[in-house]
Amino acid sequence: MRHLFHLPKNKIYLCGNSLGPQPKAAAEQLAVELESWKVRAVEGWWNGDTPAGGWLGFHKRVENDLASIVGASAPEVTIANALTVNLHLMLVSFFRPQGRRRKVVMEAGAFPSDQHAIISQLKFHGLDPETDLIEVGPRTGEFAIRTEDITAAIHDAGDELALVLWSGIHYYTGQFFDLGAIAEAGKSVGAQVGFDLAHAVGNVPLTLHDWGCDFAVWCSYKYLNGGPGAPGGLFVHERHHESEDLPRFAGWWGHRESDRFMMRREFRPEIGASGWQISTAPVLGLAPLLASLPLFAEAGGMAALRTRSLLLTGKLHALLSKLPGLTIITPSDENQRGAQLSVYVPGHRPKLEHQLSEAGLIVDYRQDNLLGGDGGVLRLAPAPLYATEEEVEKAVEILAGALELG
Ligand SMILES: *Cc1c(COP(=O)(O)O)cnc(C)c1O
Repeated sequence: MRHLFHLPKNKIYLCGNSLGPQPKAAAEQLAVELESWKVRAVEGWWNGDTPAGGWLGFHKRVENDLASIVGASAPEVTIANALTVNLHLMLVSFFRPQGRRRKVVMEAGAFPSDQHAIISQLKFHGLDPETDLIEVGPRTGEFAIRTEDITAAIHDAGDELALVLWSGIHYYTGQFFDLGAIAEAGKSVGAQVGFDLAHAVGNVPLTLHDWGCDFAVWCSYKYLNGGPGAPGGLFVHERHHESEDLPRFAGWWGHRESDRFMMRREFRPEIGASGWQISTAPVLGLAPLLASLPLFAEAGGMAALRTRSLLLTGKLHALLSKLPGLTIITPSDENQRGAQLSVYVPGHRPKLEHQLSEAGLIVDYRQDNLLGGDGGVLRLAPAPLYATEEEVEKAVEILAGALELG
């Protein structure tokens, strides 16, 4: 599928975990909507050049593709807002602390935005993050969080647990969690379960419906290649679609499309995840997704991509393991990782990312703040839609060269 993407010239691009490259068809999809705006103006909401019609219900044009990528039915997913906004909206509906049941279990060292979201929600409910947020981390000397430690923390919290909020793939260590086991443990103690799939969606196969989590959120600009700041996705399990007592922050775009423009005061949500939309669909932000999402099915679906991903990342793992002085902090068990490998590089190297880019390798490098020491963590992600084996080999050569320079 590589030929279907614009990739930075003369660079190996292993940074799709941060911003996916531009699908070549994205410009065309944007042009269609710009043209419709130009020639139809407001009538573009109802009329368009495609059988799908105008912009009204634009989100529905991506729901089938999204649903197969995350393992859900189309009504269980939608696209709206952005990841952290959707996380807050989901927490309004699914984090309902009451009496003893008010605690949250989450992974230690979660992405800062998720920490900000949950801590602000706890405070909003008058709770104390010091006591009501239980963070589960790796054991001393380990980088991965053991599933048994996660499920034990959930069972220990028991009927005090209101919510399990967990990431699909840890953004920093690259660990792919056993989401089925986490959902099962959370549901077994009567808690709600939500996943942040920012680094998992479009990277690894997911079966959200069958795992039985209550909600999930993700962004569209990492492995989904939807473009910088593309609208985010959300999943609400079918079991909640009819529950009218579920509180939510509502807006008119979540109202049933059939009579939205009757402009009544009464709110009647769309059945399913679309009922959590709030504002007018950002059509120009959504258009590139019409180019990017169908590529996953064209590639044979997530199972086929996973096969390719295991090959690429397995190769990267084998080659990196031979470089002295580095520590791969991502699990070596391929079932516990996606495309990304995170590598601890000792020593203070503020220019490493720039040096690598100059040498033809785009990756992500951050000063470490999790493991201690003066080093940093490189994240390398050969995304299966467009990365090649030759690139993986070349990338390790470039890295070896840059590290020798110090
Ligand atoms: C990338 C990422 C985000 C980004 O959130 P936005 O609201 O899209 O800015 C949030 N959480 C995780 C885990 C991420 O990896």
